[in-house]
Amino acid sequence: MKKVIVLGAGYAGLKTVVELQKKLRGQVEITLVDENPYHYEATDLHEVASGNLPASKITFPITDVLNPEMTTLVLDHVEKVDQDKKIVELRDHKPLSYDYCVFALGFVSETFGIKGAEENSLPMTNVKESEAIHNHIITQMKDYQETKNPNDLKLIICGAGFTGIELAGALADARPRYAKLAGVTPDQIKIHIIDASKRLLPMFNEKLADYGINLLKKLEIEITTEARIQEIQPDTVLYQGAGDSEGDPLHKVEANTIIWTTGVSGSPVVAESGLQARRGRVMDTEHLTAPDHDDMYMVGDVAAVMPPNGKRPYPTTAQIALSMANYVAKDIAARVKGIARPAAYVYKSLGTVASVGNTRAFGEASGHSFKGYPASVLKKMIMNKSLMELGGFKELFAKGRFDLYH
Ligand SMILES: Cc1cc2nc3c(=O)[nH]c(=O)nc-3n(C[C@H](O)[C@H](O)[C@H](O)COP(=O)(O)OP(=O)(O)OC[C@H]3O[C@@H](n4cnc5c(N)ncnc54)[C@H](O)[C@@H]3O)c2cc1C
Repeated sequence: MKKVIVLGAGYAGLKTVVELQKKLRGQVEITLVDENPYHYEATDLHEVASGNLPASKITFPITDVLNPEMTTLVLDHVEKVDQDKKIVELRDHKPLSYDYCVFALGFVSETFGIKGAEENSLPMTNVKESEAIHNHIITQMKDYQETKNPNDLKLIICGAGFTGIELAGALADARPRYAKLAGVTPDQIKIHIIDASKRLLPMFNEKLADYGINLLKKLEIEITTEARIQEIQPDTVLYQGAGDSEGDPLHKVEANTIIWTTGVSGSPVVAESGLQARRGRVMDTEHLTAPDHDDMYMVGDVAAVMPPNGKRPYPTTAQIALSMANYVAKDIAARVKGIARPAAYVYKSLGTVASVGNTRAFGEASGHSFKGYPASVLKKMIMNKSLMELGGFKELFAKGRFDLYH
């Protein structure tokens, strides 16, 4: 029987397993490897970092969706894939051999080599890091009762991409809770986003992006643009501002919480495995395999897929990760059954919606713009759809977002 190994139980990996279990019942042996026993909805990590949701609300046990007759779960850290020998090397288990490997190990924080960023700021790329951010904020708020240091009340977000914006909105919602812990009023909790770009939210048209930025401003979130961060020192961000020349003194902003959301790259296991990549993303073939290795699929945030006639790959999202997983399961099923492989992979985006807290959002879907409360409902529906696709009704009813009436 053919052996399929799936690395990573995120959107791309878990969806591949779910689909393979349907399409190839009794025809393949699947081994799923992840370092955690749970799947997490990475699109909700900011809710855990802010403390608005507990980790249990954005996770579910991987075994909930596995068919034990077809799939074995191995809990371990993947070290590398040897594509020539067709084996996966793990930290604590013996190497695993495969006929087909689905590489779906997701993303890590990208510091772009900026001095001190790794040591002095908090990344937010998985559940443990998000919980660490929340615990850190709580400690600062409690400390304020003793220290009266205003930096305890300041939260800086480095990077105003999709993730940074969603995090800022979630932190704004959490202000009253933080203020209570610190013994201050909510307006004393300062949130500040710092970003290098001139125009934020480039994935949206100008009108929608302006709407999003105004939402943040209404929530009294300070936004500094055209600020090229040069260094992170303990509790200080140093940046070069618009119009500054080389040698000018750097601008300094102090805060006892500095969160790093400037960008992500694909898993470092991509480089460990000797795959040609840019920022951890491998340029896929039309069947979503690695170049020169037709038995190794690169799916989700470790993959780069070019739009037809496009110059830059599609942005990495949960949406494209799920879509790629659907395709990969079809392709593997066709190869195992010995029938014609599907035509080249094509991606059709369903749109993008960004939340700014629990009741506000903006975005576009099916060619229409959505703003405010209706957009917030749409965002929760999108998240429920992804939960349903991965975990079925059980996880949807247990973890879905049905808080639609405010
Ligand atoms: C705050 C935030 C908000 C976002 N919002 C949206 C949104 O609204 N819409 C959208 O489409 N996208 C959104 N994204 C992007 C989206 O979350 C990612 O594109 C998506 O998670 C990628 O899916 P993946 O399956 O490739 O990887 P992941 O979801 O990261 O899954 C990777 C899996 O691999 C496991 N793993 C990693 N390394 C190892 C290892 N070495 N050994 C063993 N296991 C390992 C991890 O435990 C994890 O289970 C958001 C991201 C963030 C951080």
